[in-house]
Amino acid sequence: MTQRPEIVEVDHPLWRLTTVRTGGDADFFAKPESVDQLVELLAWAETEAVAVGIIGSGSNLLVSDQGFRGLALKLAGPLTDIEHQGTRVICGGGARLPSAAAKSAGWGLTGLEFGINIPGTAGGAVRMNANAYGGRLADVLEEVEVCDGNGVRSLSPDELGFGYRSSALGSGQIVSGVTFQLAPDEPETIKERLAEMRAWRREAQPSGIKTFGSTFKNPDDPAADGRSAGQLLDLAGCRGLTVGGARLSEKHANFIENMGEATTADVIAVMAAGSDRVRTEFGVELEPEVQVLGEVDWPFPRVSGDDGGLN
Ligand SMILES: Cc1cc2nc3c(=O)[nH]c(=O)nc-3n(C[C@H](O)[C@H](O)[C@H](O)COP(=O)(O)OP(=O)(O)OC[C@H]3O[C@@H](n4cnc5c(N)ncnc54)[C@H](O)[C@@H]3O)c2cc1C
Repeated sequence: MTQRPEIVEVDHPLWRLTTVRTGGDADFFAKPESVDQLVELLAWAETEAVAVGIIGSGSNLLVSDQGFRGLALKLAGPLTDIEHQGTRVICGGGARLPSAAAKSAGWGLTGLEFGINIPGTAGGAVRMNANAYGGRLADVLEEVEVCDGNGVRSLSPDELGFGYRSSALGSGQIVSGVTFQLAPDEPETIKERLAEMRAWRREAQPSGIKTFGSTFKNPDDPAADGRSAGQLLDLAGCRGLTVGGARLSEKHANFIENMGEATTADVIAVMAAGSDRVRTEFGVELEPEVQVLGEVDWPFPRVSGDDGGLN
């Protein structure tokens, strides 16, 4: 047995670290504040064959009610910093994307506006290939720093294997830094665009609820006839569909809301109920966008998030 790094805590609750607020404890938990600390933790986990999970803002994450039998990490300290050098914006992997978008506007840098309403971290955005309003992460991404038990390496966007809400990053591969290449513009013009985007969002999506955003990806199945996952769920009568403490939102059927006492099992059950209705009504198989940490009964095919990661 190798010595457990000092910053590792045992039996740490994770529900608070997710936006839907469900799930159990992690056997081990740590908040690394530097790349060295992160690599040390990853090397320890590898040597001890302890599974690793990284939590960003937990805005697209469901934690098992039974918790996570492994080491859950949350980047902290300097790994959440946001700086700029010329037209480059350099973020720690744990930096919040909306803050990076707002700061970039203040610095007169355009390109990251789409991030203003994505309540995740820079690292989570890379892992998920997060996009919004036609703004694409890959278009402004210059370089990504990725850590694993062997150390740190820099990767270009081409090496990240981006797909629709997916990348080729595996669970032990942690984004510790992200560099964006932006373009100069008037701060006031950029701030106006941010205000517009916030207004669109308020119009289209529920706010102030415990949710992880879009539950299912928009299908590319011809049977969907170009309709989004939210439209299909809506047409299948899923608005307000409830299981236990979890329901599909009345305002946006592709958003699940924890009404207060929901468990992760409730969330998964309401997802299954919604996707069953869509399958019966339209013959379309919805694929979850949300990622899972820990063991759950998952009534959907495992697609992204289960990969072995980049070589
Ligand atoms: C209200 C709301 C609106 C949303 N709108 C959008 C939207 O418009 N567009 C969009 O794309 N998404 C949207 N999302 C989903 C979510 O915000 C994004 O997927 C976001 O990129 C997730 O980042 P996170 O830091 O919260 O990651 P988490 O939810 O914490 O984790 C998601 C996955 O990323 C991994 N991960 C997290 N951090 C790292 C890291 N540093 N290195 C490697 N892997 C990591 C996790 O292990 C997990 O597999 C929305 C969510 C909410 C709640």
